[in-house]
Amino acid sequence: MDHAATTPVHPAVAEAMLPYLGERFGNPSSVYTEGREARRAVEEARAKVAGALGADPSEIFFTSGGTEADNLAIMGVARALRDRGDHVITTAVEHHAVLEPCHYLEREGYRVTYLPVDGSGLVDPDEVRRAVTPGTILVSVMHANNEVGTIQPVEEIAAVCREAGVYFHCDAVQTVGALEVDVDRLGVDLLSVSAHKLYGPKGVGCLYVRRGTEIEGILLGGGQERRMRSGTENVAGIVGFGVAMELAGAEWRRRSEHVKPLRDRLIEGVLGGIPRVRLNGHPERRLPNNANFIFDFIEGEAICLRLDFLGIAASTGSACSSERGEASHVLLALGIPPQKAHGSLRLTLGRDNTEEDVDYLLENLPKVVQDLRALSPLA
Ligand code: PLP
Repeated sequence: MDHAATTPVHPAVAEAMLPYLGERFGNPSSVYTEGREARRAVEEARAKVAGALGADPSEIFFTSGGTEADNLAIMGVARALRDRGDHVITTAVEHHAVLEPCHYLEREGYRVTYLPVDGSGLVDPDEVRRAVTPGTILVSVMHANNEVGTIQPVEEIAAVCREAGVYFHCDAVQTVGALEVDVDRLGVDLLSVSAHKLYGPKGVGCLYVRRGTEIEGILLGGGQERRMRSGTENVAGIVGFGVAMELAGAEWRRRSEHVKPLRDRLIEGVLGGIPRVRLNGHPERRLPNNANFIFDFIEGEAICLRLDFLGIAASTGSACSSERGEASHVLLALGIPPQKAHGSLRLTLGRDNTEEDVDYLLENLPKVVQDLRALSPLA
């Protein structure tokens, strides 16, 4: 129940990748047969990825995943437009893959505005409008939050950016395969995708860049990916990503219809069966697979360890913030006090989860919470 952290590789994806880990090992830059074969595979995958996003293949740049796509969007646009402005707008609830490059830009002399969110995690498009200055070059707002699942009004924010003549980047790492993600409908100029969140392999993803958008590559070297991303292509990963995107494009609605009733059963069961618990994030505008709770008096980390003992994989927030041991910046931005934010538990469902899985969790979680509270001096 931690599909927001990562997903298993779909069998069809693994099957498509296998030849490229074996006899089809060519380098796409080589002129001989094996190289051309690898090039063809990469370009076929690019067409599949583009097709799933409603983009043109020339607008897809393969990266090592969501983190690199976010870094490339933010640093690449900031560098390309340095002469035109020095101001970037983002939000307080972005993934670290967006926040850290923004902090880096600040150290380089750029100005960054971190917009607040309301108690459910929503960004107000009017706040974006008010934050734009003549020096603003880029706005970056995620499609849906990886911790609390809140879905942002991306179309409205895109309209504000278009009107202001400012590029708009959207981190769609959590939404591709769960919601419709069409670059024209969303109105984005740049969009990040990661394969391992959508039943593809780890270590591959892409940045969509609308034709005509000014951006510079940040990895310099052999000039692959039309000079936007040097480095020999991860051919097997890219092939797998292509198949995963094709499946995501065809199946997102079915996947969503599968997990939504499970999520609702989970939320109702937890809120109805355990005292002193609240749901974080927006009650309706949330990812179909996401449930995020706060349990008073206890630590989310302790709940996760107990659940792991029962064979249930869950997390406190994002996989990365677990390592830092700090209260989640997302929950703090929602106005939740640090003490309480440590009591968070995120459950994110996937295509293989069943009603039995949810019932197993609902049978065990109340006892886990009760036992931990019995040990807690706060309770
Ligand atoms: N952006 C969001 C919203 C994410 O959830 C993640 C992964 O957790 C990333 C970016 C980073 O993606 P990757 O793991 O492919 O680097």
